[in-house]
Amino acid sequence: MFRVLFTSLVVMCVSVAYAQDDTTVKTIFDEALRNGKSYEMLEHLTKKVGPRLSGSPGAAAAVEWSRHVMEDFGFDSVWLQPVMVPHWVRGQQEMARIINSKKMGTVSVNVCALGGSVGTGPGGLVSQIVEVKSFDELKQLGVKGVKGKWVFFNRPMDPTKINTFAAYSGAVDQRGSGASEAAKYGAIGAIVRSMGLNSEEYPHTGGVRYAPNIPQLPAVAISTRHADLLSKLLKDDKDLQLYVETHCETLPDAPSYNVIGELRGSEYNDEIIVVSGHLDSWDLAEGAHDDGAGCVQSIEVLRLFKLMGYKPKRTIRAVMYMNEENGLRGGLKYAEMALKNKEKHIAAIESDRGGFTPRGFSMAADDAVKQKVQSWQSLFKPFDVWDFTQEGGGADIGPLANQGVPLFGFVPDSQRYFDYHHTPEDTFDKVNKRELELGSGAMAALVYLMDKYGLK
Ligand SMILES: [Zn+2]
Repeated sequence: MFRVLFTSLVVMCVSVAYAQDDTTVKTIFDEALRNGKSYEMLEHLTKKVGPRLSGSPGAAAAVEWSRHVMEDFGFDSVWLQPVMVPHWVRGQQEMARIINSKKMGTVSVNVCALGGSVGTGPGGLVSQIVEVKSFDELKQLGVKGVKGKWVFFNRPMDPTKINTFAAYSGAVDQRGSGASEAAKYGAIGAIVRSMGLNSEEYPHTGGVRYAPNIPQLPAVAISTRHADLLSKLLKDDKDLQLYVETHCETLPDAPSYNVIGELRGSEYNDEIIVVSGHLDSWDLAEGAHDDGAGCVQSIEVLRLFKLMGYKPKRTIRAVMYMNEENGLRGGLKYAEMALKNKEKHIAAIESDRGGFTPRGFSMAADDAVKQKVQSWQSLFKPFDVWDFTQEGGGADIGPLANQGVPLFGFVPDSQRYFDYHHTPEDTFDKVNKRELELGSGAMAALVYLMDKYGLK
């Protein structure tokens, strides 16, 4: 009897507590939608600062801008965390032409060098092409079929995957490792089908990872439309040749910074909740969805708390990492310093899947933590945020996992992300104000609940 009474008291208390939370969560969303600043911040970051690849003047401007913004909002502390970053430059515009096509003669195709790639040299490279869909296929061709040729990796992203990040995962090995795989068999370079789901004119860049002790080959992405054209022409004309000229190079590492703003906790100020995005973008893009959106949403979480007069019990930090795209040095540095300074992080959240309509949060945490967060699910329902089932956190917060920090990824609708990802199309006008603000609201609501209840 006592147990029954006790249990119902607990249930009552929980529902009373959550009833108050209903109101607070609604206030958070209301403020995000009525008085939100994330869209305005994003306009500045994309239009006034623009592309911000690590080591570039744009990246340096983005660091200064985000520091000033957080200082102007009156956060308790704002500081820069120094980190050395890779400094890759694209150089002069790259070009590529299919030559000697029996059907079409010479045809220009749209390519861009992959980030971190070596260049072809000013004279360019010309050779025959061998098309493959997998590394197994490449292996079967061996040195005999590959030596002296371009390897054309043409496995598309799977359009039947509803989560487009799963489709991306199923194809992106070609971009990351294609050049080194091709080098094993004596190829002269790698051409990779862009990581996009549509037939598009523009190529998608992204990082290439050279394996150690293997020659580094020039690697380019080709637009999906031209990948289809090249594949079609190759079917009738195996002797077709491709000319590619790229001018990219890697300069010595450059100094840069993670940018951090903080609201200090009133009760447990040694317990830190991180909410974050990455400040760098690819050089070809304004980086509106990737990841300007995540940066402004993270700043907005702290600003909304101040606006509402909410004093967090725990310390809330907005972190803008540098160098997610081509090195992850910012994320690694942040984790290194957290360990060195013996900081206690109770959670880290990252928004790096675009500023689209929020659906939920992914988690990389133990079951008890997951269940606690899932118990808050009903509070998000009125805002159409319901998916707390996916695994994972985010690239920049990943290194904190070694310290046992529970990780969370902001999960928005994924259908349009790979239309823009790493391309000149990732611009401010592709972001919907309301969707971006709903995302800020969802992130702030999650941080509010973590702050109030902890995760134990
Ligand atoms: Zn990103």
